[in-house]
Amino acid sequence: MLPDHLPLLLDHCLAGLYVLSGDRIVWLNARAAEMVGCTAEELVGGSFLEFIHPTDLPLLRSKAGSADPYVVRAVRRDGELVHLEVHQRTVEKDGQRLISGAVLDVTARVRAESTEREKLQHDAFHDVLTGLPNRALFLDRLEHRLALEKRRHQTSFSVLVLDIDRFKVINDSLGHVRGDELLVEVARRLQSCLRPADTVARLSGDEFTILLEDVASAADARKVADRLREELRVPFWLGAHEVFSGASIGIAHGSAAYAHPEDILRDADTALYRAKAQGRGRCVEFDASMHDRAVELLELETSLRRALERKEFQLHYQPVVSLSTGQITGAEALLRWNHPERGLVPPMEFIPLAEETGLIVEIGAWVLREACRQMKEWQERLAQPQLEIGVNLSSRQFQGPGLVAEVAEVLRATGLSPRSLRLEVTESLLMDKHPNVAQTMTELRAMGVRIDLDDFGTGYSSLSYLHQFPIDTLKIDRSFIHRIGASDDALEIVNTILALASSLDMEVVAEGVETEQQLEQLRKMHCAYAQGYHLSRPVEAPQFETLIGTGRSWAA
Ligand code: C2E
Ligand code: MG
Ligand code: MG
Repeated sequence: MLPDHLPLLLDHCLAGLYVLSGDRIVWLNARAAEMVGCTAEELVGGSFLEFIHPTDLPLLRSKAGSADPYVVRAVRRDGELVHLEVHQRTVEKDGQRLISGAVLDVTARVRAESTEREKLQHDAFHDVLTGLPNRALFLDRLEHRLALEKRRHQTSFSVLVLDIDRFKVINDSLGHVRGDELLVEVARRLQSCLRPADTVARLSGDEFTILLEDVASAADARKVADRLREELRVPFWLGAHEVFSGASIGIAHGSAAYAHPEDILRDADTALYRAKAQGRGRCVEFDASMHDRAVELLELETSLRRALERKEFQLHYQPVVSLSTGQITGAEALLRWNHPERGLVPPMEFIPLAEETGLIVEIGAWVLREACRQMKEWQERLAQPQLEIGVNLSSRQFQGPGLVAEVAEVLRATGLSPRSLRLEVTESLLMDKHPNVAQTMTELRAMGVRIDLDDFGTGYSSLSYLHQFPIDTLKIDRSFIHRIGASDDALEIVNTILALASSLDMEVVAEGVETEQQLEQLRKMHCAYAQGYHLSRPVEAPQFETLIGTGRSWAA
């Protein structure tokens, strides 16, 4: 059977088959001829080299006589490029050296491999969601830009880092699909505002960065930043939702002084951090003092954490005095940081940062527990169960869901009665639109704990807010008390607050009483309680105990 079918079989087998003598084609099957767009008759007797892509000729020569398969590019008669995989060997026939071989057309496979390679390469340097360059590619471009800058000795680029306002809220409330849509739309809007030479990249999450080319001055970069902010303030449509967002932007201007691209990005990021701290939708330019401040803050944060572990915090107690009896009714617990090198650090130097970093929640938990423990101990040891303790709370402590449970637990663990605890909050907390706040206050009140409004008169809360919250006491800020005697206005204000408190059925504590004259005046106005250096500075626990033990009194 086989010999009859052999010619047919040879012509139609998948491989192109051939026999060469030197460059000359002695024989080839129809498939081999087809691969270069010819018929076998046309090719026999000619040279096959005319079909090989010129740049592959050296490769071909290096493979002559080798039995290893290789891929070579050939140009078909119609001009199309094909990739051929060659398997060949040298044979001796009738004393003649011939080459017999088989070729496979692997064009499709080679093309697939190279698009795969290109795709991998693309993916490694781009963000999959938005298709924008990623951090690695951005840094690479920035590095080139920086090198150019050094050669040219002129600075004409800026780096912007941009953060989408409220992204987390949008993502959490509408879901990740909508969040992704928002990011894609932001990417599109950013690109539409910039020139083709500028690079927009997505750094991570909702952070984008932009390399602005050829900015003549810092003012130019600011103008672009303003345009971007405008563009992102236009509402977004996500599904059926109209969403308002915006962006905060930090800018760092290029300079040959930068050694690494990461440094510029870091400075733009520091500026962004500043912008966000000032509220939403701001734009801030980096200056060198920010860097020092950022390093300082970072160190402070680290040492604050350490302070918690090493128990470097301590409470001082400032007596609160009843002006009708002259007796101490309790104390306000005031936090101090006993720093190993700096000594006693006042709260204003570290509480704002602890609030910013969230560390205040842990620190505040310690303050609450320690203050309650100490007061319970005094009540028992000094047989003064009516003594009260005031503890300052920061807004951050109200934001989580855990405050009510935490207070309940501390009271249970220390055995202090809820009636003995006063939590001091500030006006800004009332202004905070967080729905948790009023609810939390109500629950604390229901437990029997009292709520005092600290530094009253310094915030911007309108009086209409006051009765919406369960507040027991107004603590008049010391700035008003100071001016008693110096100005009639101040006296008038204090009088008004007293009248207001009485109509709202609240108690009043005058803070910051520094002179006998102020004290006298407050007594005359029937202010119920006072606190201040004139009565006693905040003191350490043993000294407070002495004040109570000796029955120190400030009767008129
Ligand atoms: P505050 O709650 O209004 O505390 C009263 C501040 O006024 C205390 O400052 C106290 O030492 C000071 N002071 C008392 N009497 C006088 C006076 O006659 N004249 C003057 N000039 N000052 C007087 P301190 O201890 O430096 O605390 C400052 C602020 O730090 C506190 O203001 C409070 O807002 C915050 N703070 C203190 N401890 C804590 C705490 O444990 N947690 C939180 N979140 N904040 C705290
Ligand atoms: Mg206070
Ligand atoms: Mg105060």
